[in-house]
Amino acid sequence: MALSLPEGFLPYADEWEKKIGAFIEYRPRGLPPDSGAVSGNGAGGPADECPAAELPPGAALLVRDLPFAVKDNIAVKGFSLSCGSKLLEKFISPYTATAVRKLEAAGGAVAGKTNLDEFGMGSSTDSSALKQTNNPWDQSRVAGGSSGGSAAAVAAGIVPYALGSDTGGSVRCPASFCGVVGLKPGYGAVSRYGLVAYASSLEGIGILADTAARCRAVFSVIRGKDPMDQTSRDAPPLSPRLYGGGNAGKKVIGILSAETIAKAIAAAAAQEAGGAGGKALEAAAQAAELEPETAGAFRAARERLAGLGHTLVDVDIPSLKYGVPAYYTIAAAEASANLARFDGIRYGRRPDWAENPDDLIDKAREAGFGAEVKLRILLGTFVLRSGFQDRYYLRAQRIRAGIRANFELYLGTPENAGTGGSSAPGGRFCDAILMPVFPTRAFGRGETGLSPFAQKAADLYTCCANLAGLPALAFPVGVEGGLPVGAQLLGRAFSEGTLLDIVEEYEARYPFPRPAGYKSFWEG
Ligand code: GLN
Repeated sequence: MALSLPEGFLPYADEWEKKIGAFIEYRPRGLPPDSGAVSGNGAGGPADECPAAELPPGAALLVRDLPFAVKDNIAVKGFSLSCGSKLLEKFISPYTATAVRKLEAAGGAVAGKTNLDEFGMGSSTDSSALKQTNNPWDQSRVAGGSSGGSAAAVAAGIVPYALGSDTGGSVRCPASFCGVVGLKPGYGAVSRYGLVAYASSLEGIGILADTAARCRAVFSVIRGKDPMDQTSRDAPPLSPRLYGGGNAGKKVIGILSAETIAKAIAAAAAQEAGGAGGKALEAAAQAAELEPETAGAFRAARERLAGLGHTLVDVDIPSLKYGVPAYYTIAAAEASANLARFDGIRYGRRPDWAENPDDLIDKAREAGFGAEVKLRILLGTFVLRSGFQDRYYLRAQRIRAGIRANFELYLGTPENAGTGGSSAPGGRFCDAILMPVFPTRAFGRGETGLSPFAQKAADLYTCCANLAGLPALAFPVGVEGGLPVGAQLLGRAFSEGTLLDIVEEYEARYPFPRPAGYKSFWEG
């Protein structure tokens, strides 16, 4: 679909894009209709078998005739699908992801593919092998990752919303760094068909949006069971409705503070004192400590939510202390299997010359993959080695089950949530749990950057929602020293509607901040 764009928009977008470099491929008007690549309704194929979402008329306007951006690890026919990697730099997608097809069917048009950490591995977007993306609030800083291009494009107003993917925080971290809304839907709520797999059991397609209302509209369009993804599901009948469910009202919000988590990690470190595990835990505790500005903004968010009439209760998820090691064990194991297809034969740039097939694969990978990707493939094959699975992979899966069970004690499940009997004070299940997103605001590069270890340790706050398969919604709660700070709400499975209700009410009272020079062409 070719878009008619508002007057003055193209020079505005050009100027921003020069500064932030959000896109790997940018086509503000979408692909020309004669390119044969437009894949909307009627083209035949998987999304056409999914019922179209019923949006209230006002909500439909939040997506209709509007451009959106798509992270470059999500397939859109005729567009690049580089995954931020040299290996796929020239790869053009022959098909379109279900989520994108559904948005096209609702009247949206893909305006481009956004930059990311290679294959989604990172928290800065600086691990992209193709280009650098800068934060719209301060161009010397990163946009967060791995969906940094999508978040930066939305924060700068180049698009009203964008798709990203979240395996361990990749939608919520950049949302927090750039000051936009970032939704990681619960596992299976949105089809993964067309998302290039990094760690399949943890990840899903997520949304970066300028407002909570826009995020809700986009989510209502893309969610639901898809015959092309056997893990996708429709929301069960009793789950909170997205529209017209009468979801308003005061909620019980659990507060999981950084101090509570830090205490648990410190206790574990003391238990293992002296050993390598103890030292690693100590370092992790330090890296997960909130800087004063994010701590202050988190406290303020908590007070504002109380001021809006919600009941706040403290919660503790003790198993979280092992969240990061469990996450990286599982993510690396799955990555090592998923990335095996990029061998220069089935996919990927082929070397000019090779001695034999093994040599061809070696050369393609050596030249095609960046350092972070190689590290994770090695780590993944190590934890899956025969004889080691008990020690690493299976142990990580047990920790994962523990984290999920811990969250369910407070949040309940779609089946039991109405019944009471929670371990939350007062015995009522929480409607949501408020947590920090990331210990710092957007960090700089070089001297002012975060070490690779600190970046991984910082995933503590985000990766637990992926381990537990729960929905999580990041939203801006303040601007400190000229940089936005986000917080996130986690909910029980299929409770995205509740999280959006809370955040939409919050936003009505405390409108989200925008970077200097921002202009909205997309008021809904
Ligand atoms: N920072 C995490 C990682 O590097 C999250 C990535 C993601 O969610 N795709 O794995």
